[in-house]
Formats: sequence, structure tokens, C-alpha cells
Amino acid sequence: MSSSPTIQPEETIRPRSLDDFVGQDDLRANLSVYLSAAREGRRAIDHTLFYGNPGLGKTTLAQIMASEMGVNLVSTSGPVLERSGDLAAILTNLGRHDFLFIDEIHRMPANVEEVLYPAMEDFKIDLIIGQGPGARTVKIELEPFTLVGATTRLGLLTSPLRDRFGCIFRLEFYSPEQLATIIRRAAGILGTAVSDAGAMTIGRRSRGTPRIANRLLRRVRDFAVFQGKQIIDEELASQALDRMDVDDSGLDYMDRKILSVVINHYQGGPVGLKTLAVACSEEVRTIEDIYEPYLIQCGFLKRTSRGRVATAKAYAHLKTLG
Ligand code: ADP
Repeated sequence: MSSSPTIQPEETIRPRSLDDFVGQDDLRANLSVYLSAAREGRRAIDHTLFYGNPGLGKTTLAQIMASEMGVNLVSTSGPVLERSGDLAAILTNLGRHDFLFIDEIHRMPANVEEVLYPAMEDFKIDLIIGQGPGARTVKIELEPFTLVGATTRLGLLTSPLRDRFGCIFRLEFYSPEQLATIIRRAAGILGTAVSDAGAMTIGRRSRGTPRIANRLLRRVRDFAVFQGKQIIDEELASQALDRMDVDDSGLDYMDRKILSVVINHYQGGPVGLKTLAVACSEEVRTIEDIYEPYLIQCGFLKRTSRGRVATAKAYAHLKTLG
């Protein structure tokens, strides 16, 4: 039996180099300067933090950085690191200039986070051996490494942790044109033909997010195969997206439900996040991390000190949908 690992569809289309990474131009330009300076000086690049919504490219950038530096990347995530020993084990196994990627770094327990401070600053950790009066601290030297952290919520990072990152980058939502470029590239890798207008149609409805663009492309491709179409054109793309309940503004069922709850149950707001989550049968964190940022970015929702408020644009949008 073959033991080769199964490659996930997302992995096959993930950009491998900065040149393949579309958009985020300022970030890309700065990163490329820092990477070449670190390569020339033969040193580890500074610890780097990426923040922004899910699916905007934080993991991809971490992988690209490690591969451009020609070193290994070890990946983990905040909630997985339950005990300080879990992190210590990973850190002591890192090779010289390796990368450690911690996704959802804001969800790391406080005692684990404390292990990171001396590790990031002096490439050392203090391990406590034993318990009670006999316990002693042992200092362990680490190889110089680069920590890349990713978070959807910069505000939830403690300031001692945030201050230890040399570079902090914010990832922005992508324009429909940039998403269309991402879709054309992914379609090429998947062996699917897509017209420019077809790619734009999917791009416009992808909530500014490459991961969603790639997901919608794969679903639209299923429709194309089912209908025996050789190419994804504008008509097929919009028909398929309508069938998937993704509207012209890229809003899906839950986005529209959030807006309609604010408008119809709470007279347009303000309504508190917890109340909104209960009324939509959704988790507070999902609304805050996934739905709300895009609704705010598109001008459908406003965040005020007294709660969420629907805008005139939201009223108009729901009205056109009937
Ligand atoms: P995050 O870590 O921010 O949640 P990822 O880095 O996992 O997001 O990105 C999700 C997917 O979107 C990746 O598999 C990749 O294919 C695609 N992607 C993200 N950013 C870009 C980009 N700038 N250019 C091309 N594809 C991208």
C-alpha cells in the first residue's frame, strides 16, 4: 500500500513563493526586504505577527517565509498548546533559524505564553524540574528561531507578547480583481477553464477572502462538470452562486440572517453581540470573527458602543432581495 500523504485540495493551490502571492502589496514589498536582509546577514528573521480575518493568507505567508529562507516550518496553534511542556518540547527541537508558526496565538494559555517570552527574546527557556521545595529551574539554550504568529484578533494579544514581535503586519480584504487573479491561478492548477468574466463574478462574491474564492471556484467547477460545460463563464458562475445562496454582494444565508435580525427584531439596532448571537443561533466568536468584519467592511453594519446597528445600505440590500 502506498504511504504517500494525501494532499488536501487547499494545499495544491496554496502559493509557494512571494511572487505567486497576490495582493497585499505593501506587506509583500516589506517582507521581501526583511527576508533578503536576513538571508544576506545569515541570521534568523525577526519574529513576525500577521493579523487579519480567517482565510486572508496568514498561514500561506508563514510557509512562504520559511521556504524562501530555506528552513523548516513547524506549525501548531494556540489552543493545542495546553501545557508549558508542550511548547518547551517544540522549541527545544527547532533547528537553527527554523520557523515556528503558531496559529490563533491569542488563544494560548497564559502559562504557556510565559515560556515564549525568554524564548523569543534570548532564545532560552527556563524549565522547572520537580515540585515543591525541591523544585529547581534549569535554563535551556535554544537555536535562534523565528516565531510567526497569526491572529484574527490583535486586541486579544497581551502587550508583553505583542511587544516581542519585530514585525507586525495587517492583512486586508482583497479586491474583486485580485480575487479574480487568484481564481484564474487556482483554476489553472486544478485544470479548469474559466473566462475572465467568470473569474470576476466569483471574485466579486467571495467576501474579499481568497479561501472563500477557492472554495466557490471548486463548487462552481462541480456545476460545470454536472452540466457538461467546458468553461466557467459569467452565466454559469452566477447561476451556480445563486444556487449556493451567495448573493450579488457575496453575502450568504447567515450574513442576511444577521442583518434581518437587527432590522426586523431590533428596529435596526443597536443590539448587543450576545443577544444577536442567540437570536441567530450562532456563536459569539463566529459572528465576531467571520461574519461581522465583512458586513462592516461593506458598510452593511456599524459597531457602536451600544451595539450593532444596521445601515441604510443594509435596509436597501434586504429590500432588493425581497
Ligand atoms: P489564513 O491562515 O489567514 O486563515 P491561509 O493562508 O490558510 O489563510 O489562506 C487560505 C487559502 O487562500 C490558501 O490555501 C491559499 O490557497 C489562498 N490564498 C490566501 N492568500 C492568498 C494570496 N494572497 N494569493 C493567492 N492565494 C491565496
